[in-house]
Amino acid sequence: MLGDVRVRSRVGFEPERRGSHPYIDFRILHSHSESEVSVSARNIRRLLSFQRYLRSSRFFRGITSQNYLYILDDDYNGQAKCMLEKAGNWNFNIFLFDRLTNGNSLVTLTFHLFNLHGLIEHFHLDTMKLRRFLEVMVQDDYHSRNPYHNAVHAADVTQAMHCYLKEPKLARDLKPWDILLGLLAAATHDLDHPGVNQPFLIKTKHYLATLYKNIEAIVGHRGGPPPPKLKKMGIFFFLLVEEKRQQMESELGSLILATDISRQNVYLSEFRSYLDRNLHLDNAGYRHFILQMALKCADICNPCRTWALCKQWSEKVTDEFFHQGDVERKFQLDVSPLCDRQTETVAKIQIAFITYVVEPLFEEWAHFSDTRLTQTMLGYLGLNKASWRGLQQEHSSSGEDTDPTFEEMDSDILPQENREL
Ligand SMILES: [Zn+2]
Repeated sequence: MLGDVRVRSRVGFEPERRGSHPYIDFRILHSHSESEVSVSARNIRRLLSFQRYLRSSRFFRGITSQNYLYILDDDYNGQAKCMLEKAGNWNFNIFLFDRLTNGNSLVTLTFHLFNLHGLIEHFHLDTMKLRRFLEVMVQDDYHSRNPYHNAVHAADVTQAMHCYLKEPKLARDLKPWDILLGLLAAATHDLDHPGVNQPFLIKTKHYLATLYKNIEAIVGHRGGPPPPKLKKMGIFFFLLVEEKRQQMESELGSLILATDISRQNVYLSEFRSYLDRNLHLDNAGYRHFILQMALKCADICNPCRTWALCKQWSEKVTDEFFHQGDVERKFQLDVSPLCDRQTETVAKIQIAFITYVVEPLFEEWAHFSDTRLTQTMLGYLGLNKASWRGLQQEHSSSGEDTDPTFEEMDSDILPQENREL
């Protein structure tokens, strides 16, 4: 896990700890106005929100609602419900849904999808425990001050995963267990993400860099120990019978580790081999592999969304890169590739990311599942890349661009999503 990381501040490591790891002081990482909105302030706001009032007042009035949207404000309830009915639509606007749910998109959407796929009934899940797990152990463990790697990104990946799970080839053969794993892995895959990449952790000699190295050594060993963060998910495992708990930990860890982009080529060659042999999903091992590929697609599908969504995500991830670059410059460290706001642009980063990472993955996915959804995604991907190229040309002709070498970038150095523990 790369979670709960804080770099050494002027006064050294802070004495208190929220989770199981030393701190990186996020005030350093977020030096713009957003840093003024502290976690505690946000928590206080949330505690005092009308939602909580509504929930407690209903509880004390003895009103028990079977409707899992009961935590929503009445004004927003209808709109959020309407959106949930279209949760399988590729144009689903997760930003709007997050606003309608007052920042609870991950909890609300995941709970809805568990219900929709019949998982609550099939696994006899306690709905109160499930909701508490999603709120406390999942959503609250994302760092809301990360511009990109926060709970909304997790909700977006979960929604994409739901779309893929509905694809005919998967829907036909996947078992409830596979669907449970797929949705849970999507919702938790970036838990505790620190908002910086692995090279940054190495440069700052953070102990998590060593942890990452150790974890990396077990990547590919299906059934190996899960990332440590999963150990914190004890509440959920209590929902399952004892013998399933270990299997869940192991398979969830394997799925999440597959989102490490630095190992994408390994997964792509295995995918090609899978397609060449025309293997069938009646085998549990193959189903697991396809879930890994689906999760990888869901994790980097931003450029396959509509331009409006694609653009927002791109600006957010670049914002996160540039904050890292600012910290590196401030502490006189080498600025990581793509993290230098003085030489990079959103368009330039996105063109490289699409060319070297997204296109190779989705072209292979199209060989596996050539459906209307896949063609829609590839269509948006082409249009968005052309839009970025147009913006980049405008930027270049204005004389602001000084470094046209992005086409030579190696995908391994792309910081987007390259930590994933
Ligand atoms: Zn992610």
